[in-house]
Amino acid sequence: MNIVHIAAELAPVAKVGGLGDVLFGLCAALCDHTHKVEVCIPKYDCLDLSEVHNLTLIENDFPSFFNGTWHKNRVWQGTVESFDVLFFESLDSHNFFNRKTIYGCVDDSDRFLYFNRLVLEYLYKRDSLPHILHIHDWHAAAIPLLQKMLFPQPLPKTVLTIHNLAYQGITPAASLKKAGIPEAFFQSQKEKEFYNLLKEGIEHSDWITTVSPTYADEILTPIGGKGLHDVLNKHKNKFSGILNGIDEKFWNPQTDSSLPYRYSIKDIVNHTPLIENKRKAKQSLLKMFSLSESDKPLIGCVTRLVAQKGPDLIQQAIYWSLEHNVPFVLLGSTSEPDIWEQFLQIKKETDKSPTVHIELTHNEKLSHLVFAASDILLVPSIFEPCGLTQMIALRYGSLPLVRKTGGLADTVFEGENGFVFLDPTSSALEDTLERALQTWKNHPEQWHTLMKKGMTSDFSWKKPAKEYFDLYQNLLTINAHL
Ligand code: ADP
Repeated sequence: MNIVHIAAELAPVAKVGGLGDVLFGLCAALCDHTHKVEVCIPKYDCLDLSEVHNLTLIENDFPSFFNGTWHKNRVWQGTVESFDVLFFESLDSHNFFNRKTIYGCVDDSDRFLYFNRLVLEYLYKRDSLPHILHIHDWHAAAIPLLQKMLFPQPLPKTVLTIHNLAYQGITPAASLKKAGIPEAFFQSQKEKEFYNLLKEGIEHSDWITTVSPTYADEILTPIGGKGLHDVLNKHKNKFSGILNGIDEKFWNPQTDSSLPYRYSIKDIVNHTPLIENKRKAKQSLLKMFSLSESDKPLIGCVTRLVAQKGPDLIQQAIYWSLEHNVPFVLLGSTSEPDIWEQFLQIKKETDKSPTVHIELTHNEKLSHLVFAASDILLVPSIFEPCGLTQMIALRYGSLPLVRKTGGLADTVFEGENGFVFLDPTSSALEDTLERALQTWKNHPEQWHTLMKKGMTSDFSWKKPAKEYFDLYQNLLTINAHL
């Protein structure tokens, strides 16, 4: 089976958040099923090419249509891990992918629609079509519509994965016209001024998945559906939730080259929550940020600082930590000015604090140390499609303290592998922090059990990759019977 994934991110080459990790982990796992897997991403000027092997120019002057004319593009091919990656470089004067950023440009709709059309032009000019086009989030969600409107039958089957319903790609009709969608379509839509690309993807793809079963239920409701619950309910018969995994080779405390000290479950000292090298990792993080050594658990938080992640609750937890002398390290990145200001203020307030350190940046290497050094990883999300950090934390022997929502509800269970609260209130959060602190102090044997359970759980991509594979096969079988 030839499966082509189309997305805006691929870790570690182009990563902003979990989307990049998912692309990498899922594609690596699908290759193990002996399928031909390719990933298509834009050739941004901010790519990290260090993990791309044999990067080769395969098309130097490839035409694609946009805004009434044909433009020149380059297509590059390289290998990441065990799968091929196609990089699409626009030579257009708009410099669509040369913005030193992946997202956040005023013309993002145009940028990604250009990318969608270019990918389709390229795939349809090759000798054979892929069996499956697996598209991710709104950045690739126009593919099925473009395909139906502009490309000849037979069409490969399309699977749309919704990684986060909060980002829908609201796009002026003019941008879709630039991508070549014919006038008749707009007339049939009563000349709407704006289109929701994710909604178009939901309507026109052959199957829709989202990244955890609980989030799949949540987004069918008016509160969770963010305006798309009606269209999702309409297409419920082609919709399912498949829990993400994590790449177990990349996220492995035994081999992680970003760590000063490595460890595994085998190093756990019997009936205590102690792993000597995990303790040393904690010491080095505390030293790095001039925090005092203490007999308390270290709370870590690695996150994008956006409303979804519960920034108010993160701030409450920081103040709670200051009050209770519990060390806290936040590694948070944000492009939202208000949230940035708030955290910058707290960073200034806690600058000389021996208890709290705030690092306002995206730092991959440091994130590994925070996962390893932490005893507790805080994930107080307001909503969370799947969430990867809680699974990474479990693998690194850190107990997640989470709000029960989306994928967090599917992976973290009170009394089994972490601490859970439901209400997004400071009192629910503080009660849970208190519970975690008391367990650490008074019940080390219980902590040991939770930690061991987390470190031995299977959060690999094996099961989800099999579920995706079965889904692809079902779609192709349906096709064969038509
Ligand atoms: P989301 O995709 O919504 O940001 P996930 O939990 O699904 O959340 O994935 C987040 C990924 O990004 C994880 O791999 C996490 O380690 C990483 N990450 C988040 N914030 C940072 C940061 N500030 N520095 C480094 N890595 C980060």
